[in-house]
Amino acid sequence: MVARRQAARRKHRRLNERALRGDGGCGPSLAVRCECSERRCDAVVRLGAARYEEVRSTPGLYVLAPGHQRDDLDMVVGRRGAYVVVDEPAAELFLG
Ligand SMILES: [Zn+2]
Repeated sequence: MVARRQAARRKHRRLNERALRGDGGCGPSLAVRCECSERRCDAVVRLGAARYEEVRSTPGLYVLAPGHQRDDLDMVVGRRGAYVVVDEPAAELFLG
């Protein structure tokens, strides 16, 4: 179950990375897809391009819409008005 949720999250990340490649992703602010573990989530989060790059370059960190974190999967490590940053301590359990 956790693995399925992690797979959903990684799909969101791939979509974000693809979108970034499409438009350069170098503007001051980005609209990225929420990287929560809910497969059907299509929430959009706005944050600075530099901030997203920082999150993306740290393994296990994801950007979520506020309230989309799950207690059994995510540890909130940062909070802003429009988004939360979570660490996924269970990342090593992911086998897919
Ligand atoms: Zn979400």
